[in-house]
This record gives sequence, structure tokens and C-alpha cells, in this order.
Amino acid sequence: MAQTILIIEDEIELAKILAAYLEVEGFKAVTAADGEDGLRQFTDCAPSLVLLDIMLPKIDGISVCKELRMTSDVPVIMISAKSGEMDKVVALGIGADDYVTKPFSPLELVARVKAQLRRYEKSSGAGEAAAGEIIAGALYLNHNTYTAISSGNTIELTTKEFEILWFLASSPGQVFSKEQIYQGVWGYEGIVDENSVIVYINRIREKLGRSEATYIKTVWGAGYKFSEVSG
Ligand code: CA
Repeated sequence: MAQTILIIEDEIELAKILAAYLEVEGFKAVTAADGEDGLRQFTDCAPSLVLLDIMLPKIDGISVCKELRMTSDVPVIMISAKSGEMDKVVALGIGADDYVTKPFSPLELVARVKAQLRRYEKSSGAGEAAAGEIIAGALYLNHNTYTAISSGNTIELTTKEFEILWFLASSPGQVFSKEQIYQGVWGYEGIVDENSVIVYINRIREKLGRSEATYIKTVWGAGYKFSEVSG
């Protein structure tokens, strides 16, 4: 049965876009355009997760979140038009699980929805990671579509670059030699070309951006390992 996501958002167009993205991913999306309707829908549709705008007519998002938390611990992702630490502190302080600031990429939000659902299912002892996807910090990888998204930005990787990143990210923390990476990605036929592994990894790091370079860590004398960037 499809999981229901409740979208409480008074920007109707945004709510529609989010609903469309979620439905493509197999979720059922229910929308509410103000806080009062949101609380009513929450009771009616028993969603698996709530996307909650902060500035809402009738009852604001913060009050809605507090109200929900009195009876439920389903994941809540707050959506805000304002950027800044204050909002984040407030959102997390009232029991929200995650927080995005407008404008954001719908794909990134979908990735966060999935991450929250997975975390929630894990903590309630059910479910496991969807096949073909990896979420590590702000990085989202989809092996079915060869999509890489970092902090909401799509990273244009070549097939081989994606495969190397995927190979490393599939075993976070594990150290692979250049030879192992080469054989894991290119297969066993052919001569191991360690230099091309170095070139590819440098290119992947460059594309992920300076701040994300620590996703692939060099382990001197041993090789490389994937490490989730925290914070
Ligand atoms: Ca709003």
C-alpha cells in the first residue's frame, strides 16, 4: 500500500509540484492549504510523513507541529521561506525532524522524505534501504537513473564517474585500493590502470565541489574510502 505524505502548504503551485514529484515515486500525496485544514487532514489520512510550511493561514506551522507532536511521532519536515539558524533551531526545538528553506529542489526534498521515512522505519524496527539508492548526508545517489544530487544540486557525472562514486558509497568507511576500485568498476578483464582511477576520483571530487571533497577520503598508502559528510 502506498505511503501517504501530507503536504501542508499555502502556496498551491508549490504543493502541486511536490505532490506530483512524490506521486511519481509511488507515494500518495494529500494537500492542505492552511494549518487548520492540515490538522484535520492529519487525523483523516494518517500520513507516514508531513511536509509542513511555517507561514500558514489560520494556524501557523510551528503550532501545527506542536499539536501533531502531542499525539504522533511521524516524521515532520518543515518548509520555510526564511533562511537562517533561528528557524532551524525553532523547527528542531518543536520536534520537527528536518528542515528545508525555499527555494529548494523538489528532488532533494523527495530524497529527504525517503531518508526520514527510512530512519523512522528503522527506529520502529521495520523496513530497509530502497534498492538502487544511497543517501549519505547531503548526497543522494540513484543507481537506476544514474542521478547524483549534492545539497540539492544535480551533479553531472559520466557513467564511469558515477559508478566509482557508487562503488565507494556502497561500502561507507571501507578502504579500497586503486586496484580494487578499478576491478570493481571496470571488471576483471584488462590491465589495471591505477592512474585512471586517480584521475577519475579527482574529477568526481571536483564536480562534488570543494566543500564536499571529503566524501571520498584518501587513505595514504592504502587507497580511498567513502565517508559521509556530517552537518
Ligand atoms: Ca506559506
